Amino acid sequence: ISFDSFKLSPEISQALTSLRYFKPTKVQEEVIPLALENQDIIVESQTGSGKTIAFGVPLCEAVQWEENKPQALILVPTRELALQIKAEIMNVGRLKRIKVTAVFGKSSFKTQKSELKQKSHIVVGTPGRILEHLKEGTLDVSKVASLILDEADEMLNMGFIEQVEAIIDELPKNRQTMLFSATMPSEVERLATFYMKSDRHSVRI
Ligand code: AMP
Repeated sequence: ISFDSFKLSPEISQALTSLRYFKPTKVQEEVIPLALENQDIIVESQTGSGKTIAFGVPLCEAVQWEENKPQALILVPTRELALQIKAEIMNVGRLKRIKVTAVFGKSSFKTQKSELKQKSHIVVGTPGRILEHLKEGTLDVSKVASLILDEADEMLNMGFIEQVEAIIDELPKNRQTMLFSATMPSEVERLATFYMKSDRHSVRI
């Protein structure tokens, strides 16, 4: 199958072609159609499976350019991953002029604050710093329609569980949630049971 079978908008299709992504990976083939229909999905797959595009494409499709407040929030365990995801999503969303902001610790809060003040469609970051921005009132999550928990097992290993839960508690209840993890320990299962819709889909690659 090709990306065409997902009936993507011309801007996103063209961006994928420019990136020389011609054929969806297994995880993309499973996740993209469900995510485009706003379903909750829990995905067990290794890094390198193409998961960033699996959630990045549906997020970019859903972005409404005119809305200035963040419409999607991506939680990740490390700054490297945040920067990598930002770069990949900016590439996918380039023709839609989608704005992505990355926030993480040990880096200027003030700079991030002013970036968040500008139009920011998608925010990707580490739990501690995201929570700080929530507490300071520098991140408005009232329009967040999709939450992505990436490398959920790593976030828990690194001790971010309390922060992750504190963040989720601030988000609109009526939202889509997608969780990606290489392994599914019981703590990750618990997170899914507690914060995702009961009719969520499970994908294992
Ligand atoms: P990820 O699992 O998101 O870290 O992606 C792993 C690598 O696969 C990245 O370098 C992507 O650029 C690449 N990639 C993602 N989707 C595709 C695709 N459909 N075709 C070819 N390469 C891809």
